Amino acid sequence: MATVAGVAVDTGHWIGGERVPAGGGATFTDVSPIDERPIAEIARGGAAEAEAAVAAAHRAFPSWSRTSREERARILHAVADGVEKRIEELAQVETADNGALIRSHRRGVMPRVAHNFRFFADWLLNLGHDDFETRGHTNHVSWDPAGVCALITPWNAPLMLATWKIAPALAAGNTVVLKPAEWTPLTASLLADIAAEAGLPDGVFNVVQGYGAEVGGPLTAHPDVRRISFTGSVPTARTIAAAAAPNLTPLSLELGGKSPLIVFADADLDLAVDLAVEQYDNAGQVCLAATRLLVESSIAEEFTRRFLEKAGRLTQGDPRDEATDIGPQIHRRHLERVDGFVRRARDAGARALIGGGPNEDLGGLYYRPTLFADAPEGAEILTEEVFGPVLTLQTFETEEQAVAMANGTRFGLAATLATGDRERARRVTERLVAGTVWVNCFFVRDLKAPFGGARQSGVGREGGDWSFDFYCDLKNTVTAPWAR
Ligand code: NAD
Repeated sequence: MATVAGVAVDTGHWIGGERVPAGGGATFTDVSPIDERPIAEIARGGAAEAEAAVAAAHRAFPSWSRTSREERARILHAVADGVEKRIEELAQVETADNGALIRSHRRGVMPRVAHNFRFFADWLLNLGHDDFETRGHTNHVSWDPAGVCALITPWNAPLMLATWKIAPALAAGNTVVLKPAEWTPLTASLLADIAAEAGLPDGVFNVVQGYGAEVGGPLTAHPDVRRISFTGSVPTARTIAAAAAPNLTPLSLELGGKSPLIVFADADLDLAVDLAVEQYDNAGQVCLAATRLLVESSIAEEFTRRFLEKAGRLTQGDPRDEATDIGPQIHRRHLERVDGFVRRARDAGARALIGGGPNEDLGGLYYRPTLFADAPEGAEILTEEVFGPVLTLQTFETEEQAVAMANGTRFGLAATLATGDRERARRVTERLVAGTVWVNCFFVRDLKAPFGGARQSGVGREGGDWSFDFYCDLKNTVTAPWAR
């Protein structure tokens, strides 16, 4: 047990409805990004824990998969009730663990965690197509639960991203083994308490803690795992895909991005500047962030002036303070990685218009919001995901050029455009390679919509029917006309 932000959090695994302490006393230290102080010693799982968790999930599957849809939906709503009762505790623990703003955890993220459960519980009750006929035969499509699902999640929005997978997987009738990121293990443990209190049967939801290669590796290679859903980086996705290959385990991959924000001269400039500054949210640690600002040259000077003015007013500091706009980077290793990108960008000739290094006034893991101009074509800073508060500014002359620049990376997660011209929006949107396109808005998301990435930003889509399609084996039953 650890006490974090006044909340008791179990630091073991959660397997088969029981707390399992660190095997052989093996633990790792969880550090808060707020001040780099240790906050918990967490069980460091390996092959044995992966095996035990898959076995528990496998045992629980026959009964849970045959539970009626109504009963599954009822329990998932009870989990949502439990989350809602503990929003403040979850928000405090998540902020201590990953350094994201308490105000967004309280008002946006944790309510959304509850919504993830409610949405998929309700969707389950309406899942299904009408039967249809072929030459007098009836076709009936059913969504059969696939089995044990291994869910592997990152640290930038730990509980939100985990429950975006857990909720549909459980609603569909599967059992789950969750492996949260080692930098943010805590809220997954609290969710195990909430799920047990809500009446989720033992073994239906399991949590194994530990490092990716040590416990995630055996989990993703396990022959009894029927689905792997992963959110994280491209290199890890490749390792997981290789581990899944011998069993041909179906994969859902939600990966990184290098998304553009295209600002046309006909845009509402205040809106465009707001959208651009919003990309520093979560200290830039957002997969969807539009980190490449592509601005029509005729307005570039005015846009830049207003952007610098607004970005200069952002308050950086302790994420537990409601007034803070930008908190710390997640970990010392991550800050150094971000700083490496910044230093190499400068070496390549890019010019920092704002920021460009750690915030020395605050020390620790606080990195200044940064904007680069004049990065040479093909520079790493224009093509690789930094995953920190680092944006680049480029200009374009024509719509054609804007589209080519927007599509000019190996990613395709999202794209945002600001324009006052409806026809232009239609033309440009059609040609963008991206899983989500926002026109004159950002981050508006409905769980019914497909979510995922093109190119190396991912494989597959989650949301609404797409989540159920992934977590189920779809079966079509064709029945001949019955003799009277
Ligand atoms: P990461 O790939 O380093 O780690 C993600 C998870 O994978 C962690 O739980 C880690 O322990 C686990 N892992 C690592 N090696 C493994 C292995 N060999 N086998 C099994 N599991 C393993 O990513 P990260 O640094 O935690 O997250 C940042 C990345 O996630 C960024 O690229 C970001 O864009 C991406 N991301 C994408 C989305 C999306 O929805 N597309 C959302 C959030 C984050």
